[in-house]
Amino acid sequence: MARPKQFEHFRYVGDKRNQRVHDLDNATDACGIDELMKAETFVCFGPDTLVEASNRCYKPCRHCVRGDEAAA
Ligand SMILES: [Zn+2]
Repeated sequence: MARPKQFEHFRYVGDKRNQRVHDLDNATDACGIDELMKAETFVCFGPDTLVEASNRCYKPCRHCVRGDEAAA
């Protein structure tokens, strides 16, 4: 999957509609990133970490966020 241009410098992207965070390094077709970019309901995090995503109540996507990282 090609990394969206807007997220060249970001690893994690959240979907505001379902409060999921995706790891763009591991994203799969099942993540629907292309659709998310079209819908423009994405959000990025500062700092660009899972911890920050989690602090903002985003849950890790089960397709692309690894379990060990999600638990950290
Ligand atoms: Zn995902």
